[in-house]
Amino acid sequence: MYTLASILSHIHSKQHLIRDAARQIYDLAYDSRKIRNAEHSLFFALKNVRDGHTFIPDAYQKGVRAFVVSCEDIDISLCPEASFFWVEDVLTALQELASYHRQQFHKPVIGITGSNGKTIVKEWLAQLLQEDKKVYQSPKSYNSQLGVALSLWNLSDDYDCAIIEAGISLPGEMNHLEAMIRPDIGIMTNIGVAHASGFASKAAKITEKITLFKRTKDVIFPSRYGFDAYLPSETTTFTFGERDVDNVRILHIEERRDGRSSIQVSYEQEIATFTVPFVDKASIENVLICLTTLLFLGYPLDVILPKLGRLRPLEMRLQLKTGRHNCSIIDDTYSNDLASLQIALDFLHQQQQHKKKTLILSDMEGLDDKLQAKLLSVLGRQNLTRIIIVGKSLHFLVDKLATPLLFFDSTEELVRNLRNIVLENESILIKGSRRYHLEDVSKLLVAKSHETVLEINLSALEHNLQAYRSILPQHVKLMAMVKAFSYGSGSYEVANLLQFNKVDYLTVAFADEGVELRQHGIDLPIMVLSPDEQVFESLLTSNLEPEIYSFRILKSFIDFLRIRKQKAFPIHIKIDTGMHRLGFLPREMAELATLLSAAPEIKVKTVFSHLVAAGKEQHRDFTIQQIGFFSTSVDRLEVGLGYTVIRHIANTSGIINWPSAYMDMVRLGIGLYGVDMDGKMTLEKVSELKTTITQIKELPAGTTVGYDRKGLLHRASRIATVKIGYADGYSRRFGEGVGEMSINGQKVSTVGSICMDMCMLDVTDIVAHELDEVVVFPDLMEAARRIDTIPYELLVNLSARVKRVYYYG
Ligand SMILES: *Cc1c(COP(=O)(O)O)cnc(C)c1O
Repeated sequence: MYTLASILSHIHSKQHLIRDAARQIYDLAYDSRKIRNAEHSLFFALKNVRDGHTFIPDAYQKGVRAFVVSCEDIDISLCPEASFFWVEDVLTALQELASYHRQQFHKPVIGITGSNGKTIVKEWLAQLLQEDKKVYQSPKSYNSQLGVALSLWNLSDDYDCAIIEAGISLPGEMNHLEAMIRPDIGIMTNIGVAHASGFASKAAKITEKITLFKRTKDVIFPSRYGFDAYLPSETTTFTFGERDVDNVRILHIEERRDGRSSIQVSYEQEIATFTVPFVDKASIENVLICLTTLLFLGYPLDVILPKLGRLRPLEMRLQLKTGRHNCSIIDDTYSNDLASLQIALDFLHQQQQHKKKTLILSDMEGLDDKLQAKLLSVLGRQNLTRIIIVGKSLHFLVDKLATPLLFFDSTEELVRNLRNIVLENESILIKGSRRYHLEDVSKLLVAKSHETVLEINLSALEHNLQAYRSILPQHVKLMAMVKAFSYGSGSYEVANLLQFNKVDYLTVAFADEGVELRQHGIDLPIMVLSPDEQVFESLLTSNLEPEIYSFRILKSFIDFLRIRKQKAFPIHIKIDTGMHRLGFLPREMAELATLLSAAPEIKVKTVFSHLVAAGKEQHRDFTIQQIGFFSTSVDRLEVGLGYTVIRHIANTSGIINWPSAYMDMVRLGIGLYGVDMDGKMTLEKVSELKTTITQIKELPAGTTVGYDRKGLLHRASRIATVKIGYADGYSRRFGEGVGEMSINGQKVSTVGSICMDMCMLDVTDIVAHELDEVVVFPDLMEAARRIDTIPYELLVNLSARVKRVYYYG
């Protein structure tokens, strides 16, 4: 329990103003949109992409009364009841507090780092240990400077051990994480090329990562990476591998025909063989790390091995699916603890497409009084329409929440009664631990799925948005391009996230797309590119703002507005500075200004143009000329109008290459969706097109595969048929070996021509099984190059029948 007075002694503040020293603090807040328990929150004004100081009034208005800040010149008279801590660096203060809190925990803390596999090892270990221990684990992606601090804050004595993941991308970062986590036991998963950019060499990267263990007594790792050499001499190592000196020796690994691997290990004179449901090297290594850790912790082999056989690949969290009866289903049926419940509820809260929100929640066993109170406050703060509870241990919630509750003793009972519950036009979060197999419920609620899906990672999209924001000056507004179904990746699903992240504008290509967004709770201003007369009515009824590109369309829109008695309807003027597609020419500005200023029906919100070749060095002069034409045109227009407008000309490439073109706003398109045409950003992949192998055949040399006998086999081959064809948007030009897909991380090529709904792959040289997952575009840029197009075309061509599956985290 912390009070403002006690917090004062745990962080270094330069100055403070404490108005109620006894105020108790339970929550650390840094995002004013996510404040729940305001009066017991301490708000950290972090300087992220947005400066947290600007959100202090908002947080105050929501009831927050304690702030950690770094700016000296805050107008505290606006927050007459608030206490302030002034610190050198707000993030550091947050870390100091987390670090102090961590040191009050006297049971083992396991710290995990490495290039890959951290999250899966953490999740698996938690799963394996949970059978006889209360395990605290950092939530999925909370492994950064901020994430680790927030995860540690939730640590409490109710747990028997904690597993915390540490991720870094730059030299110097691990020291801060170490100071907070102070692992008693360390796990180093491996070292690879991931994030290599920030480091001079592999050795530098290992040295940095291993800093996490500079005070750790025992460190566990696969011996083949030779981490020993980097550890302090007093560290005790516990390794697995093929050397005689390894604590756990790997004697034999064999891939079996059923898609499992058989592994033989020896440990302290004992030899044992077990199987795991994986064949890929990475998963096997992760399993072995878990095995080695459990042996280190003193569990006997015969207890551990059967459990390893039941491990499953991590499922994606928080999948957002289209449900029956116009519902949105958020599926998170994998784990259930307070931290992940909170994240899932936040995501539910973002869904603006439905007013009604239902939570289906499985039991959380073993909640003591403190955790019960916490759950109660987490649920109480959420605007839920109802909560459906599965299991027996949450009955204490009865009469304590305003939300209607429905109880079922078991998942089976809920499934039997599901027909009697009206679930329609709502967002439904299904949240339960694995043992409640709530996926049985979600299967009944989700509209039927097909086997070719486009997975869209909304947290990657959020990351990319922040990445671009971080290079833009604060005053530059951001318009997000969600035209063409958000470059193929979805409509309101993407727009909801952008709205939540406070972009300034959205742009669609057609009025219909805008109408759909409005129907799903998007209230950001929306610009519609090149509308025609037929959609004027929709523009008006859905409050969509047209791009006006010619005198013809301008005059007819003004006429329309006059008849409808509209005043000052927002419009956007497009100037043609060199694309020669749509737009007014610079020489038409005087005439345009005259017409505009005589029409009270409209109000020019923004004036824009489009760069033709912002990413092409050889057209530098042309770009400079475009920016020049644009600036003088808008200057002239503003004089004629008598008021100023928002100016914008830069698209994604413009953001990267042309700071002089930022003006008042930029239009972010392809970069948001994870495609870096300029190769200058660290973006995350947003969409992944996946299909499955339907059948595999062994065929002799000389056989042909597919239509017109195009695929002649020059050797005895294994041919896999996968469920994607040109009707899905997989171009016929990818046939006959041009297209490359990836199965279990291995690249394979197409054979023969692409059919309408299927195509064939040569899997002779790789491990592949029927029903295996196939990644259709392992490298989107390369795929586009191979058929002489651009990634934009591949993305937007994916047909509507390819089901979109969204997930977050
Ligand atoms: C599509 C589009 C953009 C976005 O372009 P990207 O290259 O995807 O960033 C910007 N402005 C206009 C007018 C567009 O049509």
